[in-house]
Amino acid sequence: EAPLSAVAHTGEREVETTLRPRTLDSFVGQPRVREQLQLVLESARKRGVPPDHVLLSGPPGLGKTSLAMIIAAELDTSIRITSGPALEKAGDLAAMLSNLAEGDVLFIDEIHRIARPAEEMLYLAMEDFRVDVVVGKGPGATSIPLEIPPFTLVGATTRSGALTGPLRDRFGFTGQMEFYTPEELEQVLKRSASILGIAIDDEGRAEIARRSRGTPRIANRLLRRVRDYAEVRADGVATLPVVRAALQVYDVDELGLDRLDRAVLDALVRSFNGGPVGVSTLAVAVGEEPTTVEEVCEPYLVRAGMLARTPRGRVATALAWEHLGLQPPPEVGR
Ligand code: ADP
Repeated sequence: EAPLSAVAHTGEREVETTLRPRTLDSFVGQPRVREQLQLVLESARKRGVPPDHVLLSGPPGLGKTSLAMIIAAELDTSIRITSGPALEKAGDLAAMLSNLAEGDVLFIDEIHRIARPAEEMLYLAMEDFRVDVVVGKGPGATSIPLEIPPFTLVGATTRSGALTGPLRDRFGFTGQMEFYTPEELEQVLKRSASILGIAIDDEGRAEIARRSRGTPRIANRLLRRVRDYAEVRADGVATLPVVRAALQVYDVDELGLDRLDRAVLDALVRSFNGGPVGVSTLAVAVGEEPTTVEEVCEPYLVRAGMLARTPRGRVATALAWEHLGLQPPPEVGR
């Protein structure tokens, strides 16, 4: 199966579908976003109109797609799913939009990666429920206005800063997704273990929760790897020693950092003496795309207090040096 990162991989979709919470009440954590959404949905329901467009922002694996599906379920409508990179031409988006039924939810994942012509078409669609379809080329080209039924756009992004102003302004509400606490992840794991029929005790569950980088997708994935280990090398029950041994095999360290996280810290500390260093330089040093380092890796390292983003570049904190077993230089802050 896929590496243990926060990004979803092919083959994982099916398990994720089984494990997805279906109602706002069974959605664990994110109390702020949940309350805000509840108000948006409830008020739209009272007024009998589709709710404002919603933007969900946050690192991968925190439940943005799940929430989009829940929004559609709570509204009792269907959801159409696409992504920014899939909308290369305005025509791709026009086709999606013209297939919507009144009140549908259109989910666009990675909306910050939408191509310019499609983005411009989206402005009008979001605002006036209308698109202008251009027919023909050159001087003979005409634009035909096409009405589309009122719908709710739910956009997801790992980088709300990369959205253009005009696009951001057209969302009525932005939900900022936060990393989950270990206690919340324990709840997620409890539910997943019972759905998948995995035998795990409280201590084992707490250990996975603590080492899942605050991310439900990772917690669920580690749970399945621990199950494998428990079935093959133990008596099938995921106890604390079994969880610890399994996580060691899968290269998940004491703090839940995976190989890429550690590679980034290692490069930052050893090759750049703790920084500051630009994110592109750092990415080259670990052989990754800058966007992966920035959107997948860094948010958790920042949250864990090991990396700081400064105007001059990325800087390792004393905690990062210590985590790598090194003595931080005297000038390094915490
Ligand atoms: P994103 O779209 O932010 O990358 P997803 O919505 O695809 O994240 O969530 C990934 C997986 O994590 C889901 O399949 C689901 O099993 C689990 N998950 C995410 N958020 C929650 C939650 N709040 N409660 C329970 N499970 C969750």
